[in-house]
Amino acid sequence: MHPATATPTHCPYCALQCGMNLAPGRGESPLAVEERADFPVNRGALCGKGRTAPALLSSRVRLTEPLIRSHATGRLEPATWEEALDTVAEGLDRNRRAHGADAVAVFGGGGLTNEKAYALGKFARVALGTSQIDYNGRFCMSSAAAAHQRAFGLDRGLPFPLADVPRTGCVILVGSNLAETMPPALRYLTELKENGGTLIVVDPRRTRTAEQADLHLAPRPGTDLALALGLLHLVVAEGRTDEEFIAGRTTGWPAARAAAMAHWPEHVERVTGIPVPKLREAVRMFCAPESAMVLTARGPEQQSKGTDTVGAWINLCLATGRAGRPLSGYGCLTGQGNGQGGREHGQKADQLPGYRKLTDPAARAHVAEVWGVDPDTLPGPGRSAYELLDALGTDTGPRALLLMGSNPVVSAPRAGHVEERLRALDFLAVADVVLSETAAMADVVLPVTQWAEETGTTTNLEGRVLLRRRALTPPPGVRSDLDVLHGLAARLGPGQGHPDLEKKFPTDPAEVFAELGRASAGGPADYAGIDYGRIAREDGVFWPCPTPGHPGTPRLFLDRFATEDGRARFVPVEHRAAGEEADAAYPLLLTTGRVVAQYQSGAQTRRVDELNAAAPGPFVEVHPRLAESLGAVEGQPLAVVSRRGRAVAPARITDTIRADTVFMPFHWPGEGRANTLTNPALDPVSRMPEFKVCAVRVETVDAAGRDTTPSTGAETADAAA
Ligand code: SF4
Repeated sequence: MHPATATPTHCPYCALQCGMNLAPGRGESPLAVEERADFPVNRGALCGKGRTAPALLSSRVRLTEPLIRSHATGRLEPATWEEALDTVAEGLDRNRRAHGADAVAVFGGGGLTNEKAYALGKFARVALGTSQIDYNGRFCMSSAAAAHQRAFGLDRGLPFPLADVPRTGCVILVGSNLAETMPPALRYLTELKENGGTLIVVDPRRTRTAEQADLHLAPRPGTDLALALGLLHLVVAEGRTDEEFIAGRTTGWPAARAAAMAHWPEHVERVTGIPVPKLREAVRMFCAPESAMVLTARGPEQQSKGTDTVGAWINLCLATGRAGRPLSGYGCLTGQGNGQGGREHGQKADQLPGYRKLTDPAARAHVAEVWGVDPDTLPGPGRSAYELLDALGTDTGPRALLLMGSNPVVSAPRAGHVEERLRALDFLAVADVVLSETAAMADVVLPVTQWAEETGTTTNLEGRVLLRRRALTPPPGVRSDLDVLHGLAARLGPGQGHPDLEKKFPTDPAEVFAELGRASAGGPADYAGIDYGRIAREDGVFWPCPTPGHPGTPRLFLDRFATEDGRARFVPVEHRAAGEEADAAYPLLLTTGRVVAQYQSGAQTRRVDELNAAAPGPFVEVHPRLAESLGAVEGQPLAVVSRRGRAVAPARITDTIRADTVFMPFHWPGEGRANTLTNPALDPVSRMPEFKVCAVRVETVDAAGRDTTPSTGAETADAAA
C-alpha cells in the first residue's frame, strides 16, 4: 500500500544510518527517497545504495510467502505461516530433545534492529536454553570492540560525534575506504582539510579515499601492527610523548613503551615496506597540532592479530595525549547498519543486554530478573561465529540452526567449508527478506518485513540511538522477526512446561525496546533513559543515557575512562606474522573489501538493477607488473588460488595496488566468491577471522577455466619485496 505522507527514517544499510524521508512512490516502487537535510550526520547526502533502497520493497525481488523444502521434490515449496512455524519449532525441538540444548544454534546479524538483536539473544537463552548463539558482527567489529574494552573499559565505536572530525588537527585513517563504504562521510575529511587539518591514510591500495590524503602509507597487508609500533617508537625517540597525560590518566606505559622501542624504524620499513622518511613525516603530522585522531576500520581489525593491532594504534593515541580530550581520540568506523547496537544487547556469544558479561553473576541476576527466569537456567558463553559455523553438523556441534539477517555462504571466511557444514545440518531455518544463497539451502524459509515496513531502533557508528519508522504496510505474506520469535515461543513453550512462553516475546517493537531499556539499566551500554518519543524529538540520543532526564553522552572519557580506576590502560603488544604469509607455492597476498555500489554479501544490493549496472560482478585487482608477468590483459579471467580453494574473476589492472598484493571485493557468490579463499585464522581475543590477508597465487585461465599460466607471479612478488 502506498503511504499518504513522507516519513522521516534512516537508510537500511551501513552504520552511518543516513537520515532520509520516504515519500509516496510512483509506479512499481511504493516509496521514493527524499533528502533529509536536517539530520546532522549526512546532512541530506546519500549514496546510491540508500537512494535505491525502496527498490527492494517491490514483491518482484523479495520473498512474500514461507517456503518449506518438499521431501518429495527436494525443492522449496510455498507453505502457510502455520505450517512453516510448526516445522521450524519441530526441527529445533527434535534436535534439542535428542542431543541437548546446545544441539540447537542461533545466528544473527549486525543489520538487525536493537529490538530484534535483543529478542534473538533472549530467545536463544530462554526459549531454547542454548549457549550456541553468535552473529556476523563477529566478522566486522569484534577486534576493535575487544581493544576498546581492554584500553578504555568500554566499547563504543566513536567516543565523539562525527561533527568533531573536521575540527581536529590531524586524522590517521587506517584501513578504511570511506569514499566507497560510506561516501557521505567523506565530507568530514574534506572539511578537515578545508579547516587546515591534515589526513593520513593507511591502506595497501591507493583507494579513492587515499587519493584525498596528504600522506598515503601503503603497508604490506597484515603489517599495520608493526607500522603503529614503529610510529610509537619514533614518537618516543623524538621526545613527542605527553608525559603529563601519561602520568595522570593512564597505566601500563613502561611495558608498552618497551615493546614499541624494539621496533626500530629500519626494521619497520623492512616489515611494512614503508620508507623511514614517510614514517617520520607521519609522526610529525600527527604530533604537530593540538589535537588529533586515529580512526580504524576493517583493514587493521580483520586480522588474526586485530585486537593487538587496534591496541597499538590506541597506544599511539595515549602516548601523545590524544584520547579523553576534546577533538582527540581513537575511534572505530563501524560497518554494518546496526553494527554498534547489534553487539550491545545479547546476540553475541558472551554477552547479555546492556553490554553485560554472561559470566558475571550480578549481570546474570539482573537480566534474569527482567526476563522472569532463574539466573541458573541461563547458559554460559558459546562458540564465536566462525567456530559455531565450523562445528555445525559435527558430532559435538549444533545440528539445527535458526538464522536471521545473515548470509554466511557469501560472507563467512573459508565459505566453501561453511557451505559444507550448513549442508551437514539436520535442520536449517532462515528468516530473510530475499532468497539469499544461505536461505536457498534451508529446510524452511521465513519471509520477513524490512526496514520501511517496521519500526525499530538502530545505534549508529557514533553511539547515537536512532528510530527507523514504519512507512508502509508490509505485503500480506510477510511477518516481522519479532512475530517469528513470538510464534516459535508459542510452539516451544508447552512442551517445556511453559504454556505462556510466548508472552515473554512481545511483537510490539516499542514494548521490546522498553524491556531492553530495563535489561540494559546500570550496564555499560545503558539505554534506560531512552524511548521512542525522545529519539524522535531529539533526532537520536547518545548512550549511555541512564535516566529520562539525562542528556545522553555524545563525548566519552573527557573526565575519566570507564576502567575501575578511571585511567586508560596501555597494553604492550608485539608484531607477529599473519596466519599465512606468502611463500613459494602462494607468493602473493590477497586482501578483500567492498565496492561503492554493493553492500556486504550483496543479498539485497545484487537485486537492485541500478546497483548491478554499476557493479555487475567480482574482479581481481592486480598491479601492471604482476599482469605482465602473467601475460594477462584487462578483463581476462584470472584464477586466484589459496589453500582453501579457487575463485575466478576478470582482471582489473591498476597501479593503485602493491605489486605483491591482489584485491577482490567479497559481495558475490559462485566462482568469483572471494571468501572461498579467505583464511579463518582467528584473533585469540576477539575471535575475528583474518579476512584481510591470506597467501594466494594467481593463474590465467582459458574460456573453459583451464590453467594457462606461464608464471605464478612469484617473480613480481619477489621484486616488490
Ligand atoms: Fe545508506 Fe550508508 Fe549509503 Fe548512507 S552511506 S546512504 S547509510 S549505505
